[in-house]
Amino acid sequence: MPVVRLAHETDFDGWRAAARSLRQAGVAPHHVVWTVDGSADLFSPPPPCGEGSGVGVTVGCAEATPLRPTLSRQGGEGFRVPRPFVDLAGQAILHRSDERFDLLYRLLWRLQDKPELMHILSDADVARAHGFARDVHRAAHKMKAFVRFRLAKDDEGEVYVAWFEPAHRVTEATAPFFVKRFANMRFSILTPDVCVHWDLKALAATPGADPADAPREDALEDYWKTYYASIFNPARLKVAAMRKEMPKRYWRNLPEAALIPELIAQAEARTSDMVRAAPTEPGRRVVRAAVRNSRDAPWEGQAPTSLEEIAAGVDHCRRCDLWRDATQGVPGEGPPRARLLFVGEQPGDQEDLAGRPFVGPAGQVFDRALAAAGVPRAETWVTNAVKHFKHELTGKRRIHRTPNAGEVAACRWWLDAERRIIRPRVIVALGATAGLAVFGKATSIKDNRGRALQLPDQAQAVVTYHPSFLLRLPDEKAKAEAYEAFVEDLKLAWTLAA
Ligand code: SF4
Repeated sequence: MPVVRLAHETDFDGWRAAARSLRQAGVAPHHVVWTVDGSADLFSPPPPCGEGSGVGVTVGCAEATPLRPTLSRQGGEGFRVPRPFVDLAGQAILHRSDERFDLLYRLLWRLQDKPELMHILSDADVARAHGFARDVHRAAHKMKAFVRFRLAKDDEGEVYVAWFEPAHRVTEATAPFFVKRFANMRFSILTPDVCVHWDLKALAATPGADPADAPREDALEDYWKTYYASIFNPARLKVAAMRKEMPKRYWRNLPEAALIPELIAQAEARTSDMVRAAPTEPGRRVVRAAVRNSRDAPWEGQAPTSLEEIAAGVDHCRRCDLWRDATQGVPGEGPPRARLLFVGEQPGDQEDLAGRPFVGPAGQVFDRALAAAGVPRAETWVTNAVKHFKHELTGKRRIHRTPNAGEVAACRWWLDAERRIIRPRVIVALGATAGLAVFGKATSIKDNRGRALQLPDQAQAVVTYHPSFLLRLPDEKAKAEAYEAFVEDLKLAWTLAA
């Protein structure tokens, strides 16, 4: 009986080459035994052609070619392998079931006599293969959603490391998604099957790892927990749906998972508090909230009435296209009754990853200037005109792009809600985009900075530079002067807000 020894668990090329040889030799599926050779090294070059099962079947062959549309049967007539079968086989082979190699070869064998087989979805083999492919697709989706990176350091500096246990062997197939999303961040995703590493130039794979190899906590952990707690809306809690979408097997990798039991336990009381807190017409408010919460589109319809709704809503917002390439929506933060509200342009690269405004290089300039002006950031609300990171990929780097007027207008829905709920005494527009969002029209910084401006809603406004403008100034003298003016503007705003 022919024994096919594949090089590793996801050796699709090896399976293809062996299946072709077996089919050409007329070896029926029930005569073939498929195994994975544990001694084969997944990460070394495949063996030369001719080495393999010892039954005339070449596996893991360096010269293996794609399963050709034309296969000959015992030297007889050729037959075509439909493309849907090849695509399905490429997915199904990532399933953890031991049957997968045998099942796929059986389908290949049957295709010759029944070319329409792949269209017969009631066929047990076809249905099983589709079931495998669906499981694999779902596992890849969960991996994209539940991988959480933690910051670590190695000889080359900062690296983000994640531990993940995929339901099926999808790590290498899913890795390009993370490269696209985090192109300018060195990362490793460790799994029991295989580990993938991105060094800003190339993706590499190494053998599977142990959970102990991954860092357990880092500085980003608290950001995640705070963010998750802030977006958790107890009135929308559906425990069964949550368990279905976020199975417990993934919880140990998620920093926010530690909060889930407590948040669920408190949900009823918090929902009651929310209802009680409604100042007038409680019945209508609750009905409106229920209608809003029953939609999958919290960015549509009635404007949000709480900062929690805004925090939860921006991440799901589809009012413009900027959500598509961003990691997450970045809501504003600060005390709900802040007297001073800062509006920046949009989250930058680091803000997009952290989910918080002004934490990157511009945020550091901002913090330094606030300290110099005597303004406690913790007593102010800090937000952006646009809540998703607009950028373009240049090589591996995500380069900032200025939001256009349409995007600013779309996102003003959220900023207006923040203004309405917080009712600050003073709003500071940091840069031209923020000026457009705050005033609803282009507002020259040069002509207007250094003085108080009146807004229609009784609040006063100050326009000044965006901290990143100070970073970009090439001339040191000009930079120092602009920084000084910036600090003066912050002092003015704080005095007006007192
Ligand atoms: S940028 Fe603003 S309007 Fe556009 S999707 Fe994000 S939150 Fe919505």
